[in-house]
Amino acid sequence: MIKKIGVLTSGGDSPGMNAAIRAVARVGALEGLEVYGIYNGYKGMVDGDIELLTRDHLSDVLDRGGTFLGSARLPEFKEIEVRKKAVEQLQKHGIEAVVVIGGDGSYRGAAALTKMGINCIAIPGTIDNDITSTDSTIGFDTALNTVVDAVDKLRDTSNSHHRCSVVEVMGNRCGDLALFSGIACGAEIIVTAQTGFDEIEVLDALKEFDISKKKKHAIVIISEKITDVESFARKVSQFTGFSGRATVLGHVQRGGSPTPNDRVLASRMGEKAVDLLLQGIGGQCVGIQKGEVVGVPIEEALNIPRVSRKDLKNLFDRLV
Ligand code: ADP
Repeated sequence: MIKKIGVLTSGGDSPGMNAAIRAVARVGALEGLEVYGIYNGYKGMVDGDIELLTRDHLSDVLDRGGTFLGSARLPEFKEIEVRKKAVEQLQKHGIEAVVVIGGDGSYRGAAALTKMGINCIAIPGTIDNDITSTDSTIGFDTALNTVVDAVDKLRDTSNSHHRCSVVEVMGNRCGDLALFSGIACGAEIIVTAQTGFDEIEVLDALKEFDISKKKKHAIVIISEKITDVESFARKVSQFTGFSGRATVLGHVQRGGSPTPNDRVLASRMGEKAVDLLLQGIGGQCVGIQKGEVVGVPIEEALNIPRVSRKDLKNLFDRLV
């Protein structure tokens, strides 16, 4: 039976990571485990930046965005020699298993560590909803709320000025944040890696909204890394009746107090991660599928294809 586990947050942070850490530590303590916080992701693991989590660390963190353990990227963690140093540090502290909260990169680190004898369970902490083994990642709901709040405000001012707001949202090649926010905000156009981007087609559609549908404003939501939204907004001004304005929401989407849904999801996933480790299971990631929290082997999870979301795109097209 294991006695000591570690918990860390890695990669891009997301609201709700604190709630997940708290659940791991509280459930772990209740099950008689000593739970150690590993600071700044795999970097802190290699550096031995590790400390026992007490009730003091965990009070007042549930509603706080970010991660009190800090997060970092350590590309060198792909090298076995670097991971060996991490394993030595864990052994020095007597830590036998680790919960890793992060995105798919962090999952790969967790799988690699498990192969070296440290059982790891990964929890999906990312606003991008780009982990295919779970219906929802921790932070997605909060980021969606942030985007909807911002776009609602942009719509007010766009309306007054016959403007087209071109809004870039995050997603890391996953269109969910754009698609869900587009439906929730009543956007005119959504562009994601999945829909593809034909600039002429979008400009023509905007002309049509202006002339035939007599819209006073238009909202175009575009996933990041698809086009330069500033330059596209200039083309909107040039080629359509709207005045185009670009807004890049950027890191504001990563912050804020987690929504109740994200807090509950994080708590459920933290609990499941500890339960799996107590059963002696490693190399799995926790996900929510059809309302149930499940464990899936990481290697399998990383190969699950993304759902097409054709149904949601069709719905959007019927609502415009
Ligand atoms: P995210 O977890 O948000 O996807 P990254 O892709 O930056 O963020 O990954 C976070 C960290 O996970 C990396 O900085 C690195 O330390 C570790 N990592 C990523 N890929 C691997 C890999 N193939 N093997 C071992 N560790 C990895």
